[in-house]
Amino acid sequence: MNTAISPQALLAVDAAMLPGHPFTAYREGALCIENVAAADLAQTHGTPLFIYSKAAMLSALAAYQRGFAGRHAQICYAMKANSSLGVLQVFAQAGCGFDIVSGGELERVIAAGGDARKVIFSGVGKTRAEMRQALKAGIGCFNVESEAELDVLAEVAGAMAVTAPVSIRVNPNVDPKTHPYISTGLKGNKFGVAHEDALRIYTHASNLKALRIVGIDCHIGSQITDSTPYLDAMDRVLDLVAEIEAAGIPLEHIDFGGGLGINYNHDTPPEADALWRELLVKLDARGYGQRKLMIEPGRSLVGNAGVCLTEVLYTKPGEQKNFCIIDAAMNDLPRPAMYQAFHAIVPVQPGRSAGNERLYDVVGPVCESGDWIGHDRVLDVKAGDLLAVLSAGAYCMSMASNYNTRGRAAEVLIDGSAVHLIRRRETAQDQMRHEQLAAN
Ligand code: PLP
Repeated sequence: MNTAISPQALLAVDAAMLPGHPFTAYREGALCIENVAAADLAQTHGTPLFIYSKAAMLSALAAYQRGFAGRHAQICYAMKANSSLGVLQVFAQAGCGFDIVSGGELERVIAAGGDARKVIFSGVGKTRAEMRQALKAGIGCFNVESEAELDVLAEVAGAMAVTAPVSIRVNPNVDPKTHPYISTGLKGNKFGVAHEDALRIYTHASNLKALRIVGIDCHIGSQITDSTPYLDAMDRVLDLVAEIEAAGIPLEHIDFGGGLGINYNHDTPPEADALWRELLVKLDARGYGQRKLMIEPGRSLVGNAGVCLTEVLYTKPGEQKNFCIIDAAMNDLPRPAMYQAFHAIVPVQPGRSAGNERLYDVVGPVCESGDWIGHDRVLDVKAGDLLAVLSAGAYCMSMASNYNTRGRAAEVLIDGSAVHLIRRRETAQDQMRHEQLAAN
């Protein structure tokens, strides 16, 4: 059964959702990102189109910077959240370091003008070639995730006659209370070394000549909306810091990872500065307040700085459901299919509605029943209308694929009234350029 809702109520719902997007607002009935109307962008660049607000990214970064005022801290943007060059450039120019998980990401940092010395390299499966590449580039630190990796890194660095700076990722076994696919700091997760093995592995590392121990790190998960798991993880890591240093192994920095959540659907994570005010009280109380700190935020820097603009292709009444078929799909916005994630979906020109609200499943053109972007959404739409999928700055374009030979979307970066095309739409030719027919 369809649930009708008044246009006023619909607008009220939409207006309530937009505050999570600080530089996205309705002006004179049109959705604007900074000073640019989304509909104008659709006309110039087509859809689906990712639109990022530079001011929103910098304001998210500023919250962390306020939180760390007066401290020795380095913010390493976890670029897996969004690794587009134009996005990396914003953070590189703002002085950020980068948390990378592959040699490809390192190449992107360098192409975007980032400083390799501020790069930390995470991930459970670094190859020898990636280690060599990172050592050659002179990265700041390898976040080592297993004893086996430690040995291989020592061997690779030794063969190059260099010393590898290392931090060991410890798994504090703290439940971040998030989706199981994005919790990483529990015993059953593949990440990091077990808390109880950490001292032994640090001692082993300290005996490997080609390694220089510089820190310790942890990352417990993503989309964390409560400070308690962070406080618990901090206690566990500081216990280890005390043990490791008592064993004569000094640590220059402590890295508390990323993971702070954003508002997708009335979520209320703490602001970054408020979270860090709370964490720094604990750090000070335990005597580590003057230690160099590192963090690896991804989603909280870019998630709500981006929207995905999409056009309604068809509406299709069904026996049980109405479908709103849009031109964006799971290949552009994989989070709903991967983790049943919620993205708010709002009209771009709500004033144009015809008073014809229906309850819809919003779906894409991909040939999978899992290709849905939103379930049970009240919308007043017809073919040709534009919709904006909110909170699309993180883990969307960086996870996008070419499934169904769909070209990846274009991306624009808005800076006030200026529009920068930072990725042109991918063509079928682009997708086929590394392929060839077999010789007969
Ligand atoms: N650091 C590490 C090691 C990660 O695995 C991740 C995400 O998976 C992050 C940082 C970034 O997390 P988020 O985007 O939730 O801040």
